[in-house]
Amino acid sequence: MAKAAAVASRKVEDVTLIAVTKTHDAAAVEAAIAAGQTVFGENRVQEAKGKYESLKAVHPEIRLHLIGPLQSNKARDAVALFDAIHTLDRESLAEALSAELKRLGRAIKLFVQVNTGEEPQKSGIAPRETLAFVERCRTVHGLTVSGLMCIPPVDEEPAPHFALLLNLARDAGLSELSMGMSGDYEAAIRLGATHVRVGSAIFGSRA
Ligand SMILES: *Cc1c(COP(=O)(O)O)cnc(C)c1O
Repeated sequence: MAKAAAVASRKVEDVTLIAVTKTHDAAAVEAAIAAGQTVFGENRVQEAKGKYESLKAVHPEIRLHLIGPLQSNKARDAVALFDAIHTLDRESLAEALSAELKRLGRAIKLFVQVNTGEEPQKSGIAPRETLAFVERCRTVHGLTVSGLMCIPPVDEEPAPHFALLLNLARDAGLSELSMGMSGDYEAAIRLGATHVRVGSAIFGSRA
């Protein structure tokens, strides 16, 4: 991460490493905490709850990010447990999150997921609809959106997708970019990522 930041004349402190612990147990998280890691990512609410409710009680400094799809009926649990949600991808979820954030008096970081490859099986807002969606999150739902998130198609060069996300964020006046995983976090950092989501490069391959 430091090397990639240096290449782009960026400060590595401006890039948050989200250690993705899905499928790994609490002992793996404990080891990462012992090594100084404080920011973690999970892609399922249920799995995260089982693992992190007790971890957060023991380690109040840790921050948990939801990086997987969120069903509206799990918005309440998600808002209570997570410090950031990277997968705001539809208007009904914006409405549900807005209600739960008000109810709990919580402020958490929100990223709008953009389907940069316009893949039918992948969630996310289409690139050309992103600006209007971010605007509706603000004006209709009273949400503060921090940035944009993408998962490039597995079979494509990721850099053009990262560049597209960067341009969309600039147009929307957003400063944070959640992009880059184990295989492409260096390219993402060169193209302006403020959050990289890295699992297997830290914890090994998932079963
Ligand atoms: C699992 C996951 C990651 C981490 O993937 P690795 O290739 O193991 O680094 C990043 N982002 C999302 C959305 C994920 O689901």
